[in-house]
Amino acid sequence: MECLPSETMNNMSSVEVIELLYQLQEIELGENPDSPKNQKAIAELREKLPPNILGHYDRLMKRGKKGVSIVSGTNCPECHMTLPTGTRAQLMRGDDIVLCDTCARYLLYRPIVQQAVKAAAKAKPAAKKTTTAKTTKTTKTTSKTSKKKAEKSEK
Ligand SMILES: [Zn+2]
Repeated sequence: MECLPSETMNNMSSVEVIELLYQLQEIELGENPDSPKNQKAIAELREKLPPNILGHYDRLMKRGKKGVSIVSGTNCPECHMTLPTGTRAQLMRGDDIVLCDTCARYLLYRPIVQQAVKAAAKAKPAAKKTTTAKTTKTTKTTSKTSKKKAEKSEK
């Protein structure tokens, strides 16, 4: 994980910076990011954000990855890795910018709130599959080995 010098923050707290970054991501990955209204919002957000933060975010986005991962439990929802306790504690304190050790996304801590549920519902594809309900019952893929690896890399 990287800790960025505080002078790059434009008087914003690290949580505020990542909140803005998340807003930016939502617009850029949302419907019609090229509309004049969204273009304006994107430009405004980018102006507020520190260049080094944007640089890393853009690199992730270019690789087809989300730049910000919203953490509400014990793992990073984007790469599904369990976050080390230290990382989580840091995230909850909210005084540092925290990256996922595994996928290098910015982490934003959001305890489960209605907003998140709403966003997830919205993100679901409109086309509903009605015939696959029975077959997709067990799709849990928790790998023990990868978990171990994550714990190791914490040190
Ligand atoms: Zn991750």
